[in-house]
Amino acid sequence: MKLVNADGWPGVIDGDHVIDLRPLLTGLDGDRAASFRHVMAHWDRLSDDVLDGRGALPRTPLAAIHLGPPVPRPGKILAAPVNYETHRREMGSEHTVRTLGLFLKAPSSVIGPGDDILLPYDDRRIDHEGELAVVIGKTARDVPADEAGAYIRGYTGLIDVTMRGPEERSARKSFDTFTPLGPWVVTADEVGDPNDLRLRLWVEGDLRQDDRTAGLILGVPELVALASSMMTLEPGDVLATGTPAGVGPIRPGDRLVLEIDRIGRLEVGVALRERSGQLLRRT
Ligand code: MN
Repeated sequence: MKLVNADGWPGVIDGDHVIDLRPLLTGLDGDRAASFRHVMAHWDRLSDDVLDGRGALPRTPLAAIHLGPPVPRPGKILAAPVNYETHRREMGSEHTVRTLGLFLKAPSSVIGPGDDILLPYDDRRIDHEGELAVVIGKTARDVPADEAGAYIRGYTGLIDVTMRGPEERSARKSFDTFTPLGPWVVTADEVGDPNDLRLRLWVEGDLRQDDRTAGLILGVPELVALASSMMTLEPGDVLATGTPAGVGPIRPGDRLVLEIDRIGRLEVGVALRERSGQLLRRT
């Protein structure tokens, strides 16, 4: 099933409609972030309630809904730095995820379908990195790879927007709007094997990235194992699996489309931030 952010609240796609899950989220006091985490944590039970109560739950045509990021404020976003051999070669990196480990992106950097990536500088190279993202559904600590599937709620598309340069990796990737996410979380049962999905990214209709997740150096189960050996993963946490070759700069006015097999299509724009970032000394 496809779990969405429908006008700011959790929903699930049913044909060309969205079922509003709010009536099933009592006791959360209207806390939006908690509502999304709750759905990720308890979807097995909630999905039964949806099937039982489908007729009684409010429904809205999908076309009338504004889709937001399917996990609007994850507890954390963990990401794999160099996890495709093709991308390692294009970056001339001697290292891969095996030696670099994982890094964190700020949860506040998340945006959704149709939103704009806001570039904080007009004189720095800022790249798109199209990636498959894993959304955690169950608290995970020291999980072996062969048990990782039980901790995965589903998958979504993620663009790991990255400023090149000497600053710390997390800083270069954590500006507001630097993590487009969506268009929805497809539950793991519907995706099946995540390790051979075609991933494509277009900039202004120009195909820039075209690869399969079969090229991942550490596949999804191994990434969950590595991540959960470093820190406790919690429901709603997002794990970005890394980007294949073809990364390149984005400019104000660009339209980006990320499409992943069995996940869907995420489209965002690019604009220049009105008040340019002053945090970093320009290099
Ligand atoms: Mn990346």
